[in-house]
Amino acid sequence: MKSLLSIIIPSYNEEGNIHNTAKTVLEIMDAEKIPCELLFVSDGSKDATYAHIVEESQKDARVRGIEFSRNFGKEAAILAGLEAGKGDCFVIMDCDLQHPPQTIVEMYKLWQQGYDIVEGMKKDRGDESFFYKKCAGAFYKILSSLTGFDMENTSDFKLIDKKVAKIILEMPERQTFFRALSFWVGFKSCQVYYEVAERQNGQGKWSFTSLVKYAITNIISFSSKPLNVVTIIGALSLVFGIAGCIYTFIYWLVGRAVEGFTTVILLLLMLGGCILLGLGIIGQYIAAIYQEVKCRPRYIVQYKTEDEKKRAEDDAEE
Ligand code: UDP
Ligand code: MG
Repeated sequence: MKSLLSIIIPSYNEEGNIHNTAKTVLEIMDAEKIPCELLFVSDGSKDATYAHIVEESQKDARVRGIEFSRNFGKEAAILAGLEAGKGDCFVIMDCDLQHPPQTIVEMYKLWQQGYDIVEGMKKDRGDESFFYKKCAGAFYKILSSLTGFDMENTSDFKLIDKKVAKIILEMPERQTFFRALSFWVGFKSCQVYYEVAERQNGQGKWSFTSLVKYAITNIISFSSKPLNVVTIIGALSLVFGIAGCIYTFIYWLVGRAVEGFTTVILLLLMLGGCILLGLGIIGQYIAAIYQEVKCRPRYIVQYKTEDEKKRAEDDAEE
C-alpha cells in the first residue's frame, strides 16, 4: 500500500483560489494514485476563505481545514499544518498555484526512493519586478553567508518526511524560519527545480515593509553573526580613535593643533551613527529574546472542519 501524503496549504484571503487549488491538486493525485489529504490552514482570513474550505471538505473527505483566530503569518500556518497532518510525508505549497502541483508527484517519488527532504528550487523568480528580484537576491546572499547553507532560489515548497516534521515541531523556538530549518536539520535531501507559475487569483500578500521585516526577523532568528558587526565597528572606532588621538596630540605639541568645529562635528556624527547602529542591532536581539521568553503559543486555532474536529477528538481519546 502506498503511503499517505499530507499537502499543507497556508491560505490567507484566498477565497478565489480554494476551489480551484483543491480540484487541481486532487485530480493530479488521483491520476497518479497517490493517497493524500489536503490541509488548508486559513491564517485568520478576512474573506470567505474558511467557508470555501468547509465547502470543499464536504465535497471530498480528503480535504480538511483549520481557521486561526487571527493572522499569525505563513510560518505559523505551516507549523499548524505539520501538527495536524496525519501523513507519512508532508508537502507545503502555496494556495495560489504558483508552486506547480505536478512537481509534488516528482517530490513524492523521490521520497519513496529514500529522500527525507525534497527541496523545491525556483528555476527563475517568475514575473517578479526587477527591484524585487534584486532585493530577494541580496537577502538570500546575506542569509546564505550567515547560515552557511546555499539558500538562493529556495522556497517553502518542499516535501519533508514525518520524522523531520516531528523534529521541527519539537523545537521550542517561537520564531521559526521553515525555509532554513529544513537545511539546518540535515538528513538525506535532494532538490527539484520548478518554474514559478503566475498567481491564480487575488494579490500577493507582501508589501515592501513586510518583506524588510520578514528579512530582518529571519536573519535575527537564524544567526547571531550581526552581533559580530557591532564588535567589529567598535574595534575599528577604537583603532581610528587611538590614531586620531596620537595625530592630534603630536600636532598640538608642535603648536599646529587642528582648528575649528568641523572635525569635532564630523567625528561626533560618525560615532553617534555607529553607536546607534550597534544599539539597534543589539536591540533587535533583545526583542527576539523577549518574544521567545514569553512562550506564547505560535498560533491559536478558532475553527476546525468537522472531520478535523473528529480526528482531534479521536487523538485525544487514544
Ligand atoms: N499566506 C499566509 N499568511 C500570510 C500571508 C500569506 O498563509 O500572512 C499564504 C498565502 O495565502 C499563500 C502563501 O502564503 O498561499 C504565499 O503568499 P503569497 O502568494 O502572497 O506570497 P508570494 O507568492 O509572493 O511568496
Ligand atoms: Mg504567491
